[in-house]
Amino acid sequence: MTDYPHLLAPLDLGHVTLKNRVLMGSMHTGLEETRDWNRVAEFYAARARGGVALMVTGGMAPNAEGGVFPGAAGLFTPEDIANHRSVTDRVHAAGGKIAMQILHAGRYAYSKDCVAPSAIKSPISPFAPRELDAAGIEKQIADIVTAAARAREAGYDGVEVMGSEGYFLNQFLVTHTNRRTDAWGGSLENRQRLPVEVVARVRAAVGKDFILIYRLSMIDLIPDGQSWDEVVTLAQKIEAAGASILNTGIGWHEARVPTIATSVPRRAFAWVTKKLMGQVGIPIVTSNRINTPAVAEEVLAEGCADMVSMARPFLADPDFVAKAARGRADLIAPCIACNQACLDHTFSMKIASCLVNPRAAHETELVLAPAAAPKSVAVVGAGPAGMSAAIAAAQRGHKVTLFDRADRIGGQLNLARQVPGKEEFHGLVDWFDAMLADTGVARRLGAEATVDDLTGFDEVIVATGVTPRDPRIPGQDGPNVLSYIDVLQGAPVGERVAVIGAGGIGFDVAEFLVTGDSPTEDLEAWLAEWGVTDPARARGGLDPAGPRPEVALRQVTLLQRKPTKPGKGLGKTTGWIHRASLKMRGVQMRAGVNYERIDAEGLHITFGAARERPTLVAADTIVLCAGQESERSLADALAGRGLTRHVIGGADVAAELDAKRAIDQGTRVAATL
Ligand code: NAP
Ligand code: SF4
Repeated sequence: MTDYPHLLAPLDLGHVTLKNRVLMGSMHTGLEETRDWNRVAEFYAARARGGVALMVTGGMAPNAEGGVFPGAAGLFTPEDIANHRSVTDRVHAAGGKIAMQILHAGRYAYSKDCVAPSAIKSPISPFAPRELDAAGIEKQIADIVTAAARAREAGYDGVEVMGSEGYFLNQFLVTHTNRRTDAWGGSLENRQRLPVEVVARVRAAVGKDFILIYRLSMIDLIPDGQSWDEVVTLAQKIEAAGASILNTGIGWHEARVPTIATSVPRRAFAWVTKKLMGQVGIPIVTSNRINTPAVAEEVLAEGCADMVSMARPFLADPDFVAKAARGRADLIAPCIACNQACLDHTFSMKIASCLVNPRAAHETELVLAPAAAPKSVAVVGAGPAGMSAAIAAAQRGHKVTLFDRADRIGGQLNLARQVPGKEEFHGLVDWFDAMLADTGVARRLGAEATVDDLTGFDEVIVATGVTPRDPRIPGQDGPNVLSYIDVLQGAPVGERVAVIGAGGIGFDVAEFLVTGDSPTEDLEAWLAEWGVTDPARARGGLDPAGPRPEVALRQVTLLQRKPTKPGKGLGKTTGWIHRASLKMRGVQMRAGVNYERIDAEGLHITFGAARERPTLVAADTIVLCAGQESERSLADALAGRGLTRHVIGGADVAAELDAKRAIDQGTRVAATL
């Protein structure tokens, strides 16, 4: 008997049966653009082997003007079709099924040639779109239909027509972006004409025995978004036009509500999909912040949907379904929804990967092959770098011992998980724990590893991490000054606080200090905080009353010496959320400051190179978050004794350290032993 009877139940689509209720949602990895088709095929084949019922590819452009960026991949030539055929063949050989997403970006295309229903520039693009005339719209439909027919020719089991997230088809649905007065705008029927026409013509072109998924925006989260009645009407028309599955889209990309970041509660939008259940006869898929089999099972058991879409969790672990099926969910590498190696990479034009799984989309390049000759390996430091190195080395067959002076594993992850909105780090530490046990890594915790302890090992990996940087501010030894470590470990903090340093940790500490109960753990509070309501109450699901954040626990000022905007270096796709969250709680930000001294009144600062405008930041507590320095004493001692060692993570380079680099470096060093 499985713990996940709903999740693992087959789903009959008529001409084909899916083996379970798990869909791997579309993700742009950038792999197709590398044109390394072996690498693309291995990425999808690995996930097919891992048991997912149906995968959806990254968005393929139907034509040049609809591509997300110039040169975006699509099925344009016979060679393209042959290349995609090599991918679908490998997926089928691995027992999987795969649908190709057709993504027309409309005004979101990062190109001066972008097109849209009306010439209205989006707030997230520098390019104003060209308004299509009637012939231009016909061309877009024809190109989408051609892409679908070619997908069938390339061996795909289906297509997903991307109709949500504010892309082209979504742009026709609402007056926010569609001001047309012809047959494609104005009345609801006219605004809904394009997606319905596209689905009908795609169905006619691909035949009955082909999966046609339509990704429908169920809550736009923009002003003048769709009403709930409009969403239901569209869903019914899309079904009548021939779709086989309705997938859920949540929020346009320009929405000012986070929809997938780590601070979004798990399954935060399943209630929206549930509202559509019973309104159509075809299966409905729910998505967003579902990252464990237990949560997926729960939403299905509660009748929120017929199927669950997870995207990033399949970067974190290709074997998600297989591990759930064999009762080892504890070994599933958890997607912590950080976006650091997936979306942040994509938006920096880098190949996507995964913070917890550096092999994601690098399957052919980062290989953990069985070691030719097993060695004894000592790893010092049970933070993310050390634990990753230990696990990867043990997976290769080495005999590994992991040392840490602390009496528990986790290192800096144990601090991160104290921060409201970062609760996913609990699961990450638990996963490391399960993996260390499963791979047979021996633990020597609670005692400092000495050079003598380490002599005799074939290989020594030093992952001793970082120590807080000393900012040398006069008065910092006073009783009113704490380090971020003290604060996150629960030291008492006063009402008025000055935080020195506005990097990732300064932001986290500010969040910790102003937040009471974490809204990430309380869906109603989180929805109120971001001003989200039932789309049946207000168009687009945006509460007319606006965001209603909880009152801040403390009065916090966050400071940095650089004159740039605080938080500029935070994640590309998540930095705005951290900034908005602190702003909502009244955190003051001061940039371009000099720290003159600390006394009983608080922190004395001046501004600029001329040290002007002496100012007191009145504070009961001053918290130091001034960055980190490498902890290299053990590495240096080993070098002094002539012992070979590998130095990784923060002990190697402290600047810009994050868990992504630590885990990547740990895994890569283990691959070379
Ligand atoms: P960080 O991002 O390098 O920030 C250090 C802060 O300290 C900066 O604001 C810096 O700004 C200030 N600083 C540097 N030297 C100083 C000095 N001598 N005196 C006073 N202030 C000084 O380091 P972190 O905040 O410790 O974070 C460590 C790593 O973890 C970073 O790579 C970060 O990206 C990552 N992290 C990320 C997140 C996230 O994305 N949410 C959260 C936590 C940690 P000025 O030099 O301008 O004063
Ligand atoms: Fe999830 Fe972060 Fe990995 Fe992206 S990088 S898949 S958000 S854990």
